[in-house]
Amino acid sequence: MEFLPLFHSLDGRQVLVVGGGDIALRKARLLNEAGACLKVVAPHVHPSLRELIEKSGGRLEERKYTAGDCAGCVLIVAATDIESVNIQVSQEAKMLGLPVNVVDSPALCTVIFPAIIDRSPLIIAVSSGGDAPVLARLVRAKLESWIPAAYGQLAGLAKKFRSQVKRRFDDVQARRVFWEEVFQGEIGEKVLSGQALQAEHLLTKKLEGEVSAVRGEVYLVGAGPGDPDLLTFRALRLMQQADVVLYDRLVAPAILDMCRRDADRIYVGKKRSEHVVPQDQINQLLVDLARQGKRVLRLKGGDPFIFGRGGEEIEELAAQGIAFQVVPGITAASGCAAYAGIPLTHRDYAQSVRFITGHLKDDTCDLPWQDLTALGQTLVFYMGLVGLPIICEQLIRHGRAADTPAALIQQGTTAQQRVFTGTLKTLPQLVALHEVHAPTLIVVGEVVTLREKLAWFEGGQPAFNLDR
Ligand code: SAH
Repeated sequence: MEFLPLFHSLDGRQVLVVGGGDIALRKARLLNEAGACLKVVAPHVHPSLRELIEKSGGRLEERKYTAGDCAGCVLIVAATDIESVNIQVSQEAKMLGLPVNVVDSPALCTVIFPAIIDRSPLIIAVSSGGDAPVLARLVRAKLESWIPAAYGQLAGLAKKFRSQVKRRFDDVQARRVFWEEVFQGEIGEKVLSGQALQAEHLLTKKLEGEVSAVRGEVYLVGAGPGDPDLLTFRALRLMQQADVVLYDRLVAPAILDMCRRDADRIYVGKKRSEHVVPQDQINQLLVDLARQGKRVLRLKGGDPFIFGRGGEEIEELAAQGIAFQVVPGITAASGCAAYAGIPLTHRDYAQSVRFITGHLKDDTCDLPWQDLTALGQTLVFYMGLVGLPIICEQLIRHGRAADTPAALIQQGTTAQQRVFTGTLKTLPQLVALHEVHAPTLIVVGEVVTLREKLAWFEGGQPAFNLDR
């Protein structure tokens, strides 16, 4: 081991920063976060650095570095672009036995800054010993996405209850088991999902020995429109800890594969007009599984609160007193629009956007057509493939111009994405000429024309367009 990782308390102690540019600023910010008292020596100083020094009550000496500047400091940082100065600072610090860091010159350093993952009070430091800082940063990026943002709050909880737990269990081993259960179980999950008070309540009960039977929980999670990369960190974390997964047809197999391997999987439908499991049975199943103490993942395409019946499912849970949390997902409108190069709003074309269900009960449909014809709004129809001819016809009949641009996006964000563009008049014919696969989304409005300039995602399938 070339460098020993240690964590340095700088609270209220003076740290010398030599240099006044961008890099000095970055180091100064970090040092300031760690509570250091800044002393900056540099002939020219970045305005933001000056501001930081003033705000934090530090000392600024606008001149060149001179021998003796290191005195009284507990850490020395040289961040100048003049090599001879960096060498001089390094030598003097070493002579005084003070830890010194020279930015980008490992040979002149006795200490180096790691890449930091800050989940205070939990801090993770990654270092390549100065050999490959970019690699250390990549590792950091991986850890950032893997460790939930609220993880540090678990330490906060531990701090608050530490002495109580110590009093309750004399035995170190018993304490360890207790805390493992807290961090990895329901209580930890409450902290991570922003329910700190409930977490404390449960912890108190656990301490009092009121360990009720294991209680299940339901995670209502949006899986996004198809591309697994569009999952949220939280969705992925819950997918990997659930005991059982209830999913429907819109959830892409690649996403399902990312769930915990040994989780039970239950398919609950649904194709258009073919509900494999009726909604009330799904609601009941969620309740029953949670009652058995299972962590139940209800995985839904897109966002669970947009045409996803997520509301209905958790209403039942709430009524039955079952714990749940909801994780939003990228809804089809956002995902498909982004991957098709069609901004849903644009200052020149659309000041509002409406999400509409195009699932028509019969040929006479009762959408508020009059409201949908105003200019300056983008319309997004979910579940509109079957109704496409009627939707286009009704919009024209109620006054939207026949040459209003319109697009149909098939299997958006996936390798099978295909985009058909035309107008309200031409789109239905264009789509009728091709074999189109669900799911599809319809976008109507001037913004569709932007695709000509902004299309970037190719998918695996050709796009089709009919000129206006
Ligand atoms: N909760 C989902 C919508 C469920 S309704 C969400 O927020 O996205 C199902 C409809 O969503 C489909 O009929 C289709 O119109 C749309 N949809 C979902 N994923 C899609 C995709 N990848 N490409 C195109 N449309 C999609």
